[in-house]
Amino acid sequence: MKIGIIGGGQLGQMLAISALKMGHTVMVLDPNPKCSASLYAEVIVGEYKDEMKVQELCDACDVVTYEFENVPASVVEREKIPQGFRPLALSQNRNVEKQNARNAGLLVNKTYMIQRLEDLEIAAKEIGLPLLLKTASGGYDGKGQVWVSEVKPFDVLSVECIAEEVINFDYEISVIAVRGFDGKVVTLPVPRNIHKNNILHMSVVPNEDEFINTSAKNYAKQLLENSDIYGICAIEFFVKGDKVYFNEMAPRPHNSGHYSIEGCDYSQFDLALKALLKEELPNPTLLQPTIMVNYLGQHVEVIRNLNEGVIHDYGKEDARNNRKMGHITFINKTEQEVTKIWEELTGEHE
Ligand code: AMP
Repeated sequence: MKIGIIGGGQLGQMLAISALKMGHTVMVLDPNPKCSASLYAEVIVGEYKDEMKVQELCDACDVVTYEFENVPASVVEREKIPQGFRPLALSQNRNVEKQNARNAGLLVNKTYMIQRLEDLEIAAKEIGLPLLLKTASGGYDGKGQVWVSEVKPFDVLSVECIAEEVINFDYEISVIAVRGFDGKVVTLPVPRNIHKNNILHMSVVPNEDEFINTSAKNYAKQLLENSDIYGICAIEFFVKGDKVYFNEMAPRPHNSGHYSIEGCDYSQFDLALKALLKEELPNPTLLQPTIMVNYLGQHVEVIRNLNEGVIHDYGKEDARNNRKMGHITFINKTEQEVTKIWEELTGEHE
């Protein structure tokens, strides 16, 4: 089969590697001819939102998916794109996303839709201060987020925002869930995720608390089924005591699931493709304790000195500060051991 992907970044690259291993070929749509996926796939050079280019991709491929979320309905409502727009409609706007999770029966922190300064005043009374103010769409890795301890005009208020109750969580986890077109849902072993400066730094698998893992997996299944979402979806949660709060979802492979390439018998990319190809979904199992560490633009030089772990280089040319350039997978190492390796390598400390 020829598989098309809207977006040729690192997620497209790892999907392509998985597809090649399964005997398929891949074509991606990306504005950059030298995008990460170009090492493994043909590239149609064009903007993700260019409907003509998306149609060209659909015409050339048997089936098409997306690794890029910010595309409008007019782009993805096509016969060759079985996931369609629905998962994107439910995740592109944080107000819609939180309400949908609530409707699906998940535990969600208090939120309030903000369109003007007066809304923020009401939100401050209802939610309490401090609260988090985030742009409703377009933000990632903490961009477009403001910590509000006093109500005043913020720059982000020029667009629709969401005000969120702050959860003083114990830790963060995510569930990568895949729903087949026959309705079967499978979930990957749950990673515990550690962020630095709002960017995912490390995913540790397995998370030790089985009660929490089961609660989160059940919530993920519930969300996909009640929202009628097919294909892969990553859901991030905050854990506080025995409570699991929904944070956000992304209908694509997720950084916190990269560990599964070495850690599981079926990776998140394998499962996303199997769902897309309407194949029977196997239940993925963890082969060994696994830790994934992201490396960023500022780390590319020192990574050359690393002689442990499996390095995944995304082949990006521009090593900007804080840009995700690749990740490293460590097998059968403790968090303490990996932290020590990382600190010695980079000179960075907690
Ligand atoms: P987000 O892009 O919404 O996932 O936010 C990025 C990171 O900010 C999360 O992974 C959390 O570490 C933190 N964060 C976001 N929302 C909240 C919240 N309501 N309470 C506490 N921390 C949060």
